[in-house]
Amino acid sequence: MTDRLLATKESEKGYPLADTDCLFCRIAMGEIPADLVRSDPEVLAFRDINPQAPTHILIIPRRHIASVSEMTEGDAHLMGKLFLMAKDLAREEGISPGGYRMVVNAGSDAGQTVFHVHLHLLGGRGMGWPPG
Ligand code: AMP
Ligand code: ZN
Repeated sequence: MTDRLLATKESEKGYPLADTDCLFCRIAMGEIPADLVRSDPEVLAFRDINPQAPTHILIIPRRHIASVSEMTEGDAHLMGKLFLMAKDLAREEGISPGGYRMVVNAGSDAGQTVFHVHLHLLGGRGMGWPPG
């Protein structure tokens, strides 16, 4: 499949393959450096630049989806992959026995600042509830 056909197919689903104005698309394309932890053809994990816990990793789909609010049935497998990668990383980081938190902020009230879907993996310290 050519890039053009692939891009057309993705845009038919309602989102572009990559958004050149999007910070996380640019990280996924290697245009902006990041502290990569894991990478596969669909999903990328890198350390948060402003960590809120001893382990703070962001897991993202390579494909641009602005928010979970925009996800469709067709994204279910991809989102499952984000969670599976996160729990594997939790084990590798040694935070699995103590416990860890996975967070997805959706929209500005929730504190979403980067509008490319990402799963936060946080651990290595005790956490309170409810979150702020
Ligand atoms: P959210 O508030 O859920 O949208 O989370 C966005 C996260 O991206 C924040 O925790 C930021 O610290 C993090 N972040 C912003 N820019 C970068 C970057 N260049 N590399 C890694 N993490 C980043
Ligand atoms: Zn993006």
